[in-house]
Amino acid sequence: MRKKVIAGNWKMNKTLAEAVQFVEDTKNRIPANDQVEAVVCAPFLFLPALVEKAKGTDLHIAAQNMHFEASGAFTGEVSPGMLKDAGVTYVVLGHSERRAYFAETDETVNKKTHAAFNVGLTPIVCVGETLEQRENNETMDHVEAQVKRAIAGLSDEQVKQVIIAYEPIWAIGTGKTATSEQANEVCTHIRKVVKANVSEAVADSVRIQYGGSVKPANVKELLLRSDIDGALVGGASLEADSFLQLVEAGV
Ligand code: 13P
Repeated sequence: MRKKVIAGNWKMNKTLAEAVQFVEDTKNRIPANDQVEAVVCAPFLFLPALVEKAKGTDLHIAAQNMHFEASGAFTGEVSPGMLKDAGVTYVVLGHSERRAYFAETDETVNKKTHAAFNVGLTPIVCVGETLEQRENNETMDHVEAQVKRAIAGLSDEQVKQVIIAYEPIWAIGTGKTATSEQANEVCTHIRKVVKANVSEAVADSVRIQYGGSVKPANVKELLLRSDIDGALVGGASLEADSFLQLVEAGV
């Protein structure tokens, strides 16, 4: 059985005090079992404080991005090793907002995915189509290409550990959730792509999240689907109670 992963992506929100309070309010209320994993993806500046606060609990702390190089002249960037050193355990890569506003490409996402494994971080790799691509029936081809390029050159064992987040861009922050059927259809396709390009065993193990206007009211239906193994949640992850409800839905 695949362990569900519920990840809250705060994006560029919260003060440090609010972030620390959130961890204080949630860290001892995460169900400790083998069915669900809870992750909070926070702005860089908050990471050391949140890691410290969450130490010894079942709440995991993630970064929302990183550079792929180990060090060097990259003003304003944060390296994989810096995240590892801060005690972070997961990193979101290739979020559609980074692809749209910060020139993230399939190639940089692939480099970052390799870089994450080089330091022992678990990558949460985001893929997903625009509304135009969906309307033109290009969803499956587009997502397939993104997944293939993201995992290119990884070992089978590494692909098994990647968390793939399917986030249709038209469903992000819009209140328009993909129906659980639409979401599952693409997640099933992603699993087939992994099977065809890696192996059936890896495809059976790899975890695929859905993201896009997930909230406590719709998360259960999504998680009941055959190929949806979790959720990557923006808006509804900002409040502690709402986040906990999402996590509990994974149990
Ligand atoms: P919303 O849950 O706010 O739609 O955001 C989804 C998302 O982009 C998570 O990474």
